[in-house]
Amino acid sequence: MIAVWNGAEIARSDDCLIVEGSYYFPLTSIDRDLLRPGPHRSRCPMKGEASYFDLRVDGHSLSHAAWFYANPAAAFVHLENRVAFWRGVQVLEAGEQAHAVDSTAAASAQDPAEQERLYEFLSKIPKTEIHLHLEALVSCESIYRLMRENQVNIDGVESQGDLLRRFQVRTLEQFIDLYINVIQPCLLKAQDFDLILRDARDYLKRNRIYYAEIFWAPTKFMQNGLEYAEMLDVLDAGARRIKSEDNIHIKFLVDLSRSYGPENAGRNLDLVLAHPRDCVIGVGLGGAEENNPARDYEAVFERAREAGLHAVAHAGEAVGPSQVWEAIRTLQVERIGHGTSAVLDERLLDHLAETQLPLEVCPSSNVFTRAYVHELREHPIRNFFERGLNVTVNTDDPTIFGIELSDEYLNLYNHCGFDLNEILVLIRNNLNASFLSDRNKANCWRQVRERVAKLQDRLGFQLTIP
Ligand SMILES: [Zn+2]
Repeated sequence: MIAVWNGAEIARSDDCLIVEGSYYFPLTSIDRDLLRPGPHRSRCPMKGEASYFDLRVDGHSLSHAAWFYANPAAAFVHLENRVAFWRGVQVLEAGEQAHAVDSTAAASAQDPAEQERLYEFLSKIPKTEIHLHLEALVSCESIYRLMRENQVNIDGVESQGDLLRRFQVRTLEQFIDLYINVIQPCLLKAQDFDLILRDARDYLKRNRIYYAEIFWAPTKFMQNGLEYAEMLDVLDAGARRIKSEDNIHIKFLVDLSRSYGPENAGRNLDLVLAHPRDCVIGVGLGGAEENNPARDYEAVFERAREAGLHAVAHAGEAVGPSQVWEAIRTLQVERIGHGTSAVLDERLLDHLAETQLPLEVCPSSNVFTRAYVHELREHPIRNFFERGLNVTVNTDDPTIFGIELSDEYLNLYNHCGFDLNEILVLIRNNLNASFLSDRNKANCWRQVRERVAKLQDRLGFQLTIP
């Protein structure tokens, strides 16, 4: 796959994207914000070390912008995300011919100033996110620090540059490799989880997320010798600190994980029940869906529900709609993670519309894993929404996919046919599908409405706030 801008090819080598020559790219203040020192620096693991892009803006070299675009997969996502700023870029499959680009006409088709106004609006709306994985919030910087601190040897990783290349995942296999062979082996002390929580806090702050439900999968770390209770102590203390310092509320859903079988899931549940904490509100079923049917976990989930825990499950992300049915019928979950393949089953769509069982849709994640969706514009989220399903929007693995929640909403506007009124409905759906109490939800939404009203006045939108 190659990308072309203004008639010139943006080449991709093994580990980077290279723009041949120097071009003027009309960066907006949004992009400039990302280059300024501040919380975004946590996403800048290669600062001063690499120059993947020869980029010049207003005569100033912006080669340090490379970190933001250094992940080829994410770069393409970002080329699409920020199409206003990169209008004229064509992403082509091998052998496909680039068509002539009238960059002036293309630029006016999506006005950068309008995109900036939209992004400002979407990024400043207070939000909730309910499908996020803890390890996928860690920065490359933090993993590099832990690698040195814990004296971990990772094959082929001698420098932070090598590590960044492992973070530049392009395939599902590389994604799994990063999780299993890079991130997880570096977390060897319970206290290491505090570092991840600090990265998580930065992500949540950047996206104005005031409440998040995060999956925590303890199995692998216990295999590495960590104690469940010690990790829990660190996560609990970190969540309390973030609540008091930043007024961001974090709750955890313990991922019982189908990758290690039902017996292991049962042992995880025993630990959850033996160590009750306010910050742990339920259990989830993540891991490899293929060959690990939901029905095998029926007894474990029954026990969790009887103990008063919330229950959710990934289903229909990598395999067909039968797994969504199974998660609903045998696990009796309160939400479905992804549910993408539901689009293949009319009866299931009707059932989901009727029951209003929330779907935790993760659009960019689904494009990345390519099981049922290859491009954002073909994502069934629009179909789900129009059929009246209870759709929520999430990022799943933000650091690894290089996608943030504010980007996801802008994507839905730019590529999936959602207008701003509909996006406000989605934002409210996220809140309503969360496990906050009804009273809390009502309070939160009242505050969100006030904020949206002020934002729309300032930015000149006229919306019907639900
Ligand atoms: Zn997930």
